Amino acid sequence: MKILVINAGSSSLKYQLYDMKDESVLASGRVERIGMDSSIVTHEPADKPEVRDVQEILDHVTAVKRVIDLLVSPQHGVIGAMTDIDAVGHRVVHGGETFKESVLVNAEVKLEIRNLFDLAPLHNPAHMMGINAVEANLPGVPQAVVFDTAFHQTMPDVAYLYPIPKVLYRRHKIRRYGFHGTSHNYVSEQAAKVLEQPLESLKMITCHIGNGASCTAILGGKSVDTSMGLTPLEGLMMGTRSGDLDPAIVPFTMNKEDLTLSEVNSMLNKHSGLLAISGVSSDMREIVEGMEDGDKNSKLAFDMYTYRLRKYIGSYAAAMNGVDTLVFTAGVGENSVALRKAVCDGLTFLGLRLDDELNAQRSKQARVISAPGSAVRVLVVPTNEELIIARDTYRLSAAAAETAAGE
Ligand code: AMP
Repeated sequence: MKILVINAGSSSLKYQLYDMKDESVLASGRVERIGMDSSIVTHEPADKPEVRDVQEILDHVTAVKRVIDLLVSPQHGVIGAMTDIDAVGHRVVHGGETFKESVLVNAEVKLEIRNLFDLAPLHNPAHMMGINAVEANLPGVPQAVVFDTAFHQTMPDVAYLYPIPKVLYRRHKIRRYGFHGTSHNYVSEQAAKVLEQPLESLKMITCHIGNGASCTAILGGKSVDTSMGLTPLEGLMMGTRSGDLDPAIVPFTMNKEDLTLSEVNSMLNKHSGLLAISGVSSDMREIVEGMEDGDKNSKLAFDMYTYRLRKYIGSYAAAMNGVDTLVFTAGVGENSVALRKAVCDGLTFLGLRLDDELNAQRSKQARVISAPGSAVRVLVVPTNEELIIARDTYRLSAAAAETAAGE
């Protein structure tokens, strides 16, 4: 069975084609600058050279058509015909309170995703364009949607409600949703496998630290709290996002600096975080380099970033009345030896002991990096959101085919 995984943004579309026989990636790629005159298509087949071309791609329907043409092309392709694509899975950022798990797309599901446009105005409309574009190019092929929020729907009300007038929750569904759920779910399962212990028995904190960053408390395999909130702005300090701050800063700054809502929004999402404090970059590699070169602002940015992450880990240990497993994942979490050391060296009060040699080893494998006897096992687990989407899509479409065959 071949599953195409799509992550559609407003002007981009990333894809991976999986062969579920052995979960191998046959090809991956991306279309960038959709809707502009010079769109860039990059196609990377597993066993053939990469293709990169620039052409006009005005909408998502044309982008998906171009992807399918490449996948079946005799020269660059990896499958014989487009009928070889058995199902398509989409990443959808916001599933609100409606979607607690992945589902197959039908008219009702599309309507619900549309109803959630308000909660994710930058993401959900783009995902819908991706779904419609697949429908137009591959009519009748089952599609599934996998939500970033779904894993966190197990949070109790004490964790997901904000202490603001309740009418705002009733009218507008203002509450904590959390994001990166697919990743937190996947790495928690992988960590339990590495430890050879049932996930249900663990008190785990997973740190997805990439461009965006979030931290989740996972008790017995279920998300009980997470740092991102109504939107992906809350919580940890990130590359360009502020994370937590006094909400009064928003009206105060708008007043003092004469900013509009959209300007203050842009300030907090695009011009804050590591970038604002270091004045150098939003990329942790450059921050660490700057710090090593003696740049004071890079050091301050690094220290604030790791301090805030450590406080979250401490608070989630309190939320679960303990923690026995700490997991690092995503671009920074998987690769930054310095970040993991700075965070873990301040958590010895939990009985956590990092093994500096294991921490410094480079590997693409999920692995333990704490010292033997550490009360909290620390792991690095590479995330793979696309694989989860492919697996869910495979499971749902195979079950639907079986049901249809039995009728
Ligand atoms: P992601 O959003 O998970 O793709 O993570 C992307 C981010 O990972 C980049 O912006 C970098 O800041 C960070 N990153 C990647 N490699 C390294 C590295 N070796 N050390 C520190 N940060 C890294």
